[in-house]
Amino acid sequence: MNTFTMSEEQARAQTDLTRAIASAIRMGQAVACVEEPARWEVENDPDAKRKCLACPVLQLCRTYAGTGLVRHGTLAGLDMEEWTAKRRRKIRTDTRRVAA
Ligand code: SF4
Repeated sequence: MNTFTMSEEQARAQTDLTRAIASAIRMGQAVACVEEPARWEVENDPDAKRKCLACPVLQLCRTYAGTGLVRHGTLAGLDMEEWTAKRRRKIRTDTRRVAA
């Protein structure tokens, strides 16, 4: 049996994003990945990335993506290779800060 553990930060980010998406949809705002989920499952879809940039929950989605919980597809305007590179840069910067 596989066990999946989510950190508190990841759970909070996921809850915040889920609530914001539900609220946006209730207010009649478009959240593109909810309307066409299959497009966000693949890597490097420029149209999906572009649509993310107009999303009403982009900032919360960036926070969620930054937790590393999702490891495939497109999220908050970047694909997973770009998110991985971004997280690695942050870890290097944080490590340098702690060492200084
Ligand atoms: S920013 Fe993109 S991936 Fe995130 S909720 Fe909006 S459309 Fe979906």
